[in-house]
Amino acid sequence: MFINDKEIIDALEKGKNAKKEDLIKILDDAKSKKGLELYDIAKLLQSEDEEIIEKIYSVAGEIKSSIYGNRVVIFAPLYVSDYCVNNCTYCGYARKNDFKRRRLTDEQIQEEVMLLEKMGHKRIAFEAGEDPTNCDMDYICHAIDTIYNTKNENGNIRRINVNIAATTVENYKRIYEKGIGTYILFQETYHKDTFKSVHPNSIKGNYDYHLTSFDRAMEAGIDDVGGGVLFGLYDYKYEVLALMQHNKHLEDLFNVGFHTISVPRLKKAEGMSLEQFPYIVNDNEFKKLVAILRIAVPFTGLILSTRESIEMREELINYGVSQVSAGSCTGVGAYKEEEFNETNVNQFEVSDNRKPLDVIKDLLKKGFVPSYCTACYRSGRTGDRFMSLAKSGQIHKICSPNALMTLLEYSMDYGDDELKDLVENVIKKECDILDISVKDKTTNKLELIKEGKRDLYV
Ligand code: SF4
Ligand code: SF4
Repeated sequence: MFINDKEIIDALEKGKNAKKEDLIKILDDAKSKKGLELYDIAKLLQSEDEEIIEKIYSVAGEIKSSIYGNRVVIFAPLYVSDYCVNNCTYCGYARKNDFKRRRLTDEQIQEEVMLLEKMGHKRIAFEAGEDPTNCDMDYICHAIDTIYNTKNENGNIRRINVNIAATTVENYKRIYEKGIGTYILFQETYHKDTFKSVHPNSIKGNYDYHLTSFDRAMEAGIDDVGGGVLFGLYDYKYEVLALMQHNKHLEDLFNVGFHTISVPRLKKAEGMSLEQFPYIVNDNEFKKLVAILRIAVPFTGLILSTRESIEMREELINYGVSQVSAGSCTGVGAYKEEEFNETNVNQFEVSDNRKPLDVIKDLLKKGFVPSYCTACYRSGRTGDRFMSLAKSGQIHKICSPNALMTLLEYSMDYGDDELKDLVENVIKKECDILDISVKDKTTNKLELIKEGKRDLYV
């Protein structure tokens, strides 16, 4: 199998106590955005030297800003079903937890989508527990159709990234044909024994089947896949190196690695206590690992959820994270419940409870440009076509105009006066520094949006 336990353990062993000059050279070389070798990652992960850690942050920040500028992509999760046959020890939806399970009807999906739309969202992550009876592939495909077909006066959800359980090539083909964006699946932990112990007596406990999901998804035609680890289940250093081995496996076999990597950190959930988990990652370790990932895979989007606090989210955007969820509810039907102050069991606790409007304002005030862009997927720029454009540096010319257009749409359709002022100022400033090849086109399209046109992109 492509996760080579011995190679990881050897790299961590040999990477201990690396010389400072060696680490400085690794970081200086990495500024060219060529990524990092496994052994170098092992050295950086184990350095406790304050100066080196500061340098990791500054190189990650440089890479982040040169590839992603000041843009941050915004999305929200949509939970459609909490039925689950698995018993993951870290999840509120584990089958041992006794609560009234739900699966959204068409009408309920439409209600949730309208509320997400009202928050400005155009890009969602589709979430469902694993249950071949109560949440089968027919239901999942139908739910995806229902989401795409739900429209309000300002448009509809334009991209659905799908996070469903590991499945067969045939089933991946079915969701691919529905026009999904990225297929997301967290490995949770790459450490085999830990994987088995946190997934007792369940379908998900088949390590090899779970690990090879992206091979089957790619075989089915899905060329954007997003990996992730639930940090806190096992030693984070091991997990980061294993993530890199997985990425390399995909690059070797399919010519394109992870489109995104998610970095969820273990949080309190229904029916579990954090004390059960000996590998909890502290804030400093977490910041360091995110910055190292940014340096190691410069062109892979890094996704952070509302599991993290406002402060942590804002800090990590500076040197790593390129996509954040906003206004998230992590329960089935939870957007409607929040609107009516009801409560239900959620998959995990969230720490950033701000409304999207406040998240957007805070980002703008700190000099970031929030983006609801979904253009690449809709223009067929996926898989290795996307990656080659990203690696050539050309993607920058596309992302910036699209960020401004979607931001203007959002402020016109859902913004208050304060947001409208903030957006107007940022658009003026950002238009001045747009690449000459897209400047006129962008200004024209921004005018059209002001006149009421929607869904324009380059
Ligand atoms: Fe089910 Fe997923 Fe939760 Fe595991 S993590 S119990 S598979 S919903
Ligand atoms: Fe993402 Fe493509 Fe939009 Fe850039 S242009 S934000 S890469 S979808």
